Amino acid sequence: MRRSQILIPTLKETPADAEVISHQLMLRAGLIRKLAAGLYTWLPLGLRVLRKVETIVREEMDRAGAQEVLMPMVQPAELWSESGRWEQYGPELLRIKDRHARDFCLGPTHEEVITDLIRGEIRSYRQLPANFYQIQTKFRDEIRPRFGLMRGREFTMKDAYSFHADQESLQDTYRVMFDAYSRIFQRLGLEFRAVEADTGSIGGSASHEFHVLADSGEDAIVYCHQCEYAANLELAESRPAPLPCDAPMPAQKVTTPGIRTVAEQAQMLKLSHDRIVKSVVVMADDQPAALFLLGDDELNPIKAARALGAKQVRMAEAAEAETATGGVVGFIGPVNLPEKLRVLVDQRAAAACNFSSGANEKDYHWINLNWNRDVPLPETADLRNVKAGEPCPRCAGNLGIRRGIEVGHIFQLGDKYSQALHASFLDEQGQERIMRMGCYGIGVSRVVAAAVEQNYDDKGIIWPQAIAPFDVGLIAINAQRSEKVMAAAETLYDRLRDLGFEVLWDDRAERPGVQFAEMDLIGLPHRVVISERNLEHGLLEYKARVAAEAELLTLDAVLERLR
Ligand code: ATP
Ligand code: MG
Ligand code: MG
Ligand code: MG
Repeated sequence: MRRSQILIPTLKETPADAEVISHQLMLRAGLIRKLAAGLYTWLPLGLRVLRKVETIVREEMDRAGAQEVLMPMVQPAELWSESGRWEQYGPELLRIKDRHARDFCLGPTHEEVITDLIRGEIRSYRQLPANFYQIQTKFRDEIRPRFGLMRGREFTMKDAYSFHADQESLQDTYRVMFDAYSRIFQRLGLEFRAVEADTGSIGGSASHEFHVLADSGEDAIVYCHQCEYAANLELAESRPAPLPCDAPMPAQKVTTPGIRTVAEQAQMLKLSHDRIVKSVVVMADDQPAALFLLGDDELNPIKAARALGAKQVRMAEAAEAETATGGVVGFIGPVNLPEKLRVLVDQRAAAACNFSSGANEKDYHWINLNWNRDVPLPETADLRNVKAGEPCPRCAGNLGIRRGIEVGHIFQLGDKYSQALHASFLDEQGQERIMRMGCYGIGVSRVVAAAVEQNYDDKGIIWPQAIAPFDVGLIAINAQRSEKVMAAAETLYDRLRDLGFEVLWDDRAERPGVQFAEMDLIGLPHRVVISERNLEHGLLEYKARVAAEAELLTLDAVLERLR
């Protein structure tokens, strides 16, 4: 593809409302654009990445014996009433009415629809087991869509559903899918971990999540250094605390004597001001009662809290604060917070919560953001109790903690949906029995963001080879002024494409500096540069995106590097 023929609207500045690196870089590299909260358009370059992830997922699903189908995104309310989820599923389920005032919803998941299909089509044990998958748009009206594609409202998921005559068969397929998932994330070139997980609102017995490891991940994972044991701490999930961002307006800006400003906090932590992304002060009876901090990944929560004079550092509340503030690394304050809290949010937090940007001076706080916590803090694991060095529940080996991004989730559902929707079959004895089910999800669009979150440097994205939008970036220096360079570029461009490489040739009359910076930002695995001087010696400049230095090579040597 010629750069002049493809829309890649790169940005020099980091967009202000993009908090995490993947969101920033995907906007800056011209992969996506925001339409509204949690809704994104995939631009040509981004779509190429998404399609590559889909292809790998599709190949591995086919290989695992799953059959591809495509179900409607709009689903009738009756089916959801049958499963009981029309009432149970909270506001994440977007409910709509058609012109006849009949109720529908936008599918956040497809258990009901597939079970309805299968109860009508599969009648005999001879047709079991069967496994169906789709790659489809899902809609979840997330309370706080954020981090770009990481937590969109509309997003792409691969979901699969398996049907079985008995538990043993379900376990077999579950194992096959577990292995398929492991292969998928290996092929994607991502560092990942499978962990034991909570079954959440989907329900069922056994469940595993697949996490791409990244410090920015929303989930904390404990894992054993010796054995296979790994589990999700699921600190945030069970806590439906309302968010300060959803609090009634109008908020008011005040100076806050006695409360440290963000700048002071940073100074005490010996950090630059930018390193603290947000701070939230909780007031109880007009006294500062708690402080939540969100910093970058080098800000150690315990150390930070201690440096700020904390008497208590309770990670359980930190997790609560995380839900409330969008990520937190430290919590300082008393153990028992009163029922009603007044939350003061500094201006950067306010910006992140989409408050009016009218008063953006530094180090003022907002008041009157009523954070009414109508649910008490549940008992949660205290992260300090599962720190490295403590024994693994399985083998007594050492445990470690990493942060992860949930990119896949598989469940043994048992008969939860098949019972409710009466999906039955006739067994060998001609007896009617209820099917058993498994379900298996991958956040295809989230995978793209997670890949960036794990692979970038200060210049931009570093795509894993398998999902890079193009294999090679080609730059011809001053080609517009040198017929020789232009001709060599044309020839090389054709040659590489004939050999099966996907090439992005920056054929614009841009300054080389601009072209180099953009190629780094876009993050293709290989870069080849043609210049008049090197051409005279029959050489090309080659650089792998991950390499520190470029090399001067013959064409044959370059082709070797690309393989
Ligand atoms: P999360 O804990 O992040 O809210 P979930 O547990 O609700 O995810 P599942 O119901 O397990 O999600 O859905 C399967 C997969 O879909 C998840 O593992 C995740 O990769 C992806 N996914 C879920 N919600 C979103 C979202 N809002 N945006 C993008 N991907 C998502
Ligand atoms: Mg969710
Ligand atoms: Mg989850
Ligand atoms: Mg999940």
